[in-house]
Amino acid sequence: MTVRVRIAPSPTGNLHIGTARTAVFNWLFARHQGGKFILRIEDTDTERSRPEYTENIKSGLTWLGLNWDEGPFFQTNRLDLYKKAIQQLLDKGLAYRCYCTSEELEQMREAQKARKQAPRYDNRHRNLTEEEKAAFVAEGRRPVIRFKIEDERLIEWNDLVRGKVTWKASDLGGDMVIARAAENPEAEFGQPLYNLAVVVDDTDMGITHVVRGEDHIANTAKQILLYEALGAKVPEFAHTPLILNEKGQKLSKRDGVTSIDDFKEMGFLPEAMANYMSLLGWTPPDSTEEIFTLSQAAEKFDLDRVNKAGAKFDWAKLDWINSQYIHNMPADKLVELLVPYWQKAGYKVDLESDRPWLETLTALIGPSLTRLSDAPKESRLLLGESLEYSEDAIEQLQKEGVGEILTSIKEAIESYSQLTQDDAKDIVKKVTKQAKVKKGLVMRSLRAALMGELQGPDLIQSWLLLSQKGLDKVRLQQSLEQSMTSES
Ligand code: GLU
Repeated sequence: MTVRVRIAPSPTGNLHIGTARTAVFNWLFARHQGGKFILRIEDTDTERSRPEYTENIKSGLTWLGLNWDEGPFFQTNRLDLYKKAIQQLLDKGLAYRCYCTSEELEQMREAQKARKQAPRYDNRHRNLTEEEKAAFVAEGRRPVIRFKIEDERLIEWNDLVRGKVTWKASDLGGDMVIARAAENPEAEFGQPLYNLAVVVDDTDMGITHVVRGEDHIANTAKQILLYEALGAKVPEFAHTPLILNEKGQKLSKRDGVTSIDDFKEMGFLPEAMANYMSLLGWTPPDSTEEIFTLSQAAEKFDLDRVNKAGAKFDWAKLDWINSQYIHNMPADKLVELLVPYWQKAGYKVDLESDRPWLETLTALIGPSLTRLSDAPKESRLLLGESLEYSEDAIEQLQKEGVGEILTSIKEAIESYSQLTQDDAKDIVKKVTKQAKVKKGLVMRSLRAALMGELQGPDLIQSWLLLSQKGLDKVRLQQSLEQSMTSES
């Protein structure tokens, strides 16, 4: 048997983190099993579906490296298949027309509520006589199609994540609607609904394993009844745990992020996101292993190591994983990813004309980045933002003798048209000797002068970057003024 799995998003919003994680698990399972991963767009809800969301879903999956083998298939292109299935259920007497109005259904629910019962459809139109039906039609009522659910049934399956799951049919809310009422009076029935369309598609596409979020468990129970009614083979099911926020609630819009685009914008790398999502609910055989590509994870992935308990979203861990990917990326590649973040922050950087300088900058700040979006903050002083001296930098600049040291450095650089690393080191050496001080004092003073603070990335490298933009002279002059303020 060739494993065939699918991801079946509804294009009613951008690619959601929950859907993306489900896609990761499906992809890993398919790749591990040498199977196929299929993309199906569930767009039967024409009011809420939008082509731009389909595009966003496709580009998000591609960004994450989750390539699909077949599709995208669109449910709106497959309506005839669903109609055929609905007709088949009607013909077999397993589905029927229900003429209830929304007011009647509402009244029914109110009455149930008053009796402290769970709301459900009470199957009242299951056995209408021909006369009753004709009377409703004469009133101009348009029926929905309901699928019969026998309350006594117990539905069971062996879930590949959760083990044996048992569901009482009486908890499914009564006979379920599988098609809306027709808008066109000529049509037999209207838009087919989710559970029916999924079963028809999963059967038609030969899906062997349905791997999806645990919020679909009740749907699975309903769908098993539909597979049986349509005489189709029931696939295997695996329900993955929900993603929870730090408080243990389902991760939602309130947590500030929902779509993969949000994470992209925040400066997470696709490799880090995919890596982190694979760990959201799955434990690799060697649980100390945390950094791996999707292909490496696929070698080890199996559904029996997917946890039942909800997966807590751990920002610190995601940040750590992201930083590992950033730190291991060569500067010539990383720089290309940083440019948009600099530009967005308002810096006029141009990779084409300034690549060597930007690459050196990237190599210098790379190790201090956790997210790509940290780049503007980490590099603002090297990108020419004006200095604000920290208190200890001012203190340093105002120490005795520092004015002379900085003046000597300033004079020394005048004779170089292009400062090299060796030149910079030579200047520090000479000035140290001449002033008869410790090298540390010269270095700290220079750092305070060039960067306005006493901590930061490699000083000589920073100096060279500033020097190539003519900024070292400007800053030395400016710092001399600071240093003089105390001496005057
Ligand atoms: N369209 C459904 C969703 O987005 C698919 C669920 C399923 O995988 O069957 O939740």
